[in-house]
Amino acid sequence: MKLDCLVIAAHPDDAEISVGGTLLKLAQAGKQIGVVDVTRGELGTRGTSEDRAREAAAASELLGLAVRHNLDAGDGRVVVTAALRERLAAIIREHAPELVLCHHTDDLHPDHAASGQLARDAWYLAGLGRLAEEVGGAPAHRPERLYEFPGHVPFDPTFVVDIEPVWEQKVALVQAYASQLAPRDASDEGAHFLFGADIIQRMETKARFFGERAGMKLGEPLLHKGPLPAFDPLLG
Ligand SMILES: [Zn+2]
Repeated sequence: MKLDCLVIAAHPDDAEISVGGTLLKLAQAGKQIGVVDVTRGELGTRGTSEDRAREAAAASELLGLAVRHNLDAGDGRVVVTAALRERLAAIIREHAPELVLCHHTDDLHPDHAASGQLARDAWYLAGLGRLAEEVGGAPAHRPERLYEFPGHVPFDPTFVVDIEPVWEQKVALVQAYASQLAPRDASDEGAHFLFGADIIQRMETKARFFGERAGMKLGEPLLHKGPLPAFDPLLG
């Protein structure tokens, strides 16, 4: 199936937390969107991988995703291998998106950093004609654009997407991952929550920070590595 946008993210919920607003806006514009989760999130402090699969399915429905794949590459163990990047390159060729969104390659979480590099490598390999011929299936296709979204390490974004119009929907999307938002049991003090704030609060802090920088209330930052062409010098 032909997609407009493919998100490649390490754990189920990373796509929604990082670019859920951007995806909602694309979906509302009638664009076809898919997600590749690199792992099942089975090492997560909260919720089982079954919980997370069920939650990812509910979030996918809210987003109207055309397709969601899982590479099951091992939570906490993501390593960029030739086999893994060729599997991902085949998925990119199959769906031939114009836009790929992936993790910033600089991140504290090794799965995020590795998944960002994996996405970047697969994006490149997907455009190699000889490789596509050798493997069979869909022809070579390198998406026009690849943008990174930040995790723990902020960057100076190329764009900030205005997500104020879809903010409540984005919150609902992330709340679909209920197992990540509630204490597991009485012994769970939320210690893995950075800075004592839960996921929704952290998401809002980031959205306000990056939104402020680009003159809007709530935004999602995206990075394009290297210059982009300006076909219209007045408006880019
Ligand atoms: Zn993650």
